[in-house]
Amino acid sequence: MTTFKDLGLVKPLLTALSEEGYETPTPIQALAIPTVLEGRDLLGIAQTGTGKTAAFALPILQRLAADPRPAPRRGCRVLVLSPTRELASQIAESFRVYGRHMGFSVAVVFGGVKYGPQVRALAAGVDILVATPGRLIDHINEKVANLGAVEVLVLDEADQMLDLGFLPPIRRIVSTLPKKRQNLFFSATMPTEIGKLASELLVNPAQASVTPAATTVARISQQVLFVETDRKRQLLAELFGDANMARGLIFTRTKRGADRVAKYLDAVGVKADSIHGDKSQGQRERALAAFKGGSLRALVATDIAARGIDVDAVSHVVNFDLPNVPESYVHRIGRTARAGADGVAISLVADDERGLLKDIQKVTRQTIPSFDRRNCRALGALAAVDKATLPPEKTPQRAAQGGGRGGNGGGNGGPSRNRRTGGGGGGNGGGRPAHAGGQGGKPRASNGPRPIAATQPAQRWSPVD
Ligand code: AMP
Repeated sequence: MTTFKDLGLVKPLLTALSEEGYETPTPIQALAIPTVLEGRDLLGIAQTGTGKTAAFALPILQRLAADPRPAPRRGCRVLVLSPTRELASQIAESFRVYGRHMGFSVAVVFGGVKYGPQVRALAAGVDILVATPGRLIDHINEKVANLGAVEVLVLDEADQMLDLGFLPPIRRIVSTLPKKRQNLFFSATMPTEIGKLASELLVNPAQASVTPAATTVARISQQVLFVETDRKRQLLAELFGDANMARGLIFTRTKRGADRVAKYLDAVGVKADSIHGDKSQGQRERALAAFKGGSLRALVATDIAARGIDVDAVSHVVNFDLPNVPESYVHRIGRTARAGADGVAISLVADDERGLLKDIQKVTRQTIPSFDRRNCRALGALAAVDKATLPPEKTPQRAAQGGGRGGNGGGNGGPSRNRRTGGGGGGNGGGRPAHAGGQGGKPRASNGPRPIAATQPAQRWSPVD
C-alpha cells in the first residue's frame, strides 16, 4: 500500500501527518501529490470528504519550502480561491496544520468581516492566501492586494463558484496573475461552464478523478421516509431519540426553514442551532464550534452555508427538504462519510418532492430504500400536541395536503413537552424499522428529547420506483 513517504513528501510534512493520525493517502492524494510536486497543472474531480484539501496543500507546502523566498508585499505566493467563508477558513486551517513545522504564513480573506485586519495581514505579504472572490476583488480594487507574484493558483469547488455567480470575479482575479504559474483546479462536477473555465486556466493538466457521485454515495447508508410536510418536524425530533444520532447535520432549503427547525428541536429538548447566509460570521463560527465540540447535537444548515463545514464525526445527515439540484444531495450526504468513515443519511420526503427524489436516484444510479410514514397516528398525535402547546409562530406552515389532520384529539394542553408520552398512541406497529437502534416502548426520559418509541415501526415499506 502506498504511504505518504512513497509519494515523496518531506519530513516536516510526514511528521505533521502522523501527528494528525493520517496513515495512508486517500486516492485523490495518491494521484495528485506526485503530479503537483512535479509542478504540473492539475484538474481534480473530487468532492469534499475525499481528502482533496491535503491533496493540494501538502505538495504546495513542499514546493514553497524547496524554493524559499520572502512573501511579496501586499501579495502572496499561493492563492487559493474558495466559494464560501467556511471553506476558506477550513482550507487555511489545513495549510496551518500540515505546514506547522515549516513556518509559512497563512491568511484568509472573506466578506462579512472588517477590512482592517485583512489589510494589515496583506500589507506585509503572506505565503498562502485563501480568499473568497468578492472580498479579494475589493482588496485588488483598493490596491491593498497585488497578485503579481502568485506562483500557484488553486480554484476549489469550482462548480459551487458557478452556482454562486463567481465566474466573472474569478476571471477578473486571474487577469491580474502572472501568466507563468501552476494551476490546480478542483470541482465535484463538471458542468459545461466549469469545463470551459478549466480549459482557459489549465495548461496541459494531469487529471485526477475520484469518487464519481455513486462511489461515495455507496458507502453511506441511505433511506427515505415519506411523510407529510407538516409532520416533518415531529419525525425529525423522533429521529433524534436514537442515541446513535450523536451529531446530526440537517439541511433545509431556506434560511427561515433552518431557523424554524432549529427552534423546534431546541423546544423539544435537542440542542440545536442554525447556520445560513443571514447569520453573522461570529454566529456561524460559534454554532460550528459548538457543533464540533459536541455541545450542539443538531446543526441545521442551508446548502451554501454547509458547503465548507468539515466535521469529522457527523453521524447523520438529514435532508429535511430535498435539494432542488440532485448534485447537492451528493454534497450533502457526503458530510457524513468523511475520509472513509461510514454514515447515515435520511431524507424526509413529502409527496410534492417525489420528482426531486426521482432525479436524485437517476443521478446517483441507485434506489434508496424508503419507508412510508404518511398517515402515521403517532406523528399525527405529536403534531396535534405541538399545535396545542407551541406558540402559533412556531407551528409549521400547514401544507396544502389534507388539512385538519391530527385534529384536536391530543389537545390536552397541560404537559410540558418533555413529559409527553412517546408513543403518541402507537398503533402503527408491525412495519420495518425506520432506522437502527430502536428502543420502542421504552419509558420516556423526564428531560431531553422525546424518545423514539414512535419512530421505529413504519407502517408500510415501499421501494420507490
Ligand atoms: P477534504 O476532502 O479535504 O474536505 O477532507 C476530508 C476530511 O478527511 C478532513 O477532515 C481531513 O482532515 C481528513 N483527511 C484528509 N486526508 C486524510 C487521510 N489521508 N487520512 C485520514 N483522514 C484524512
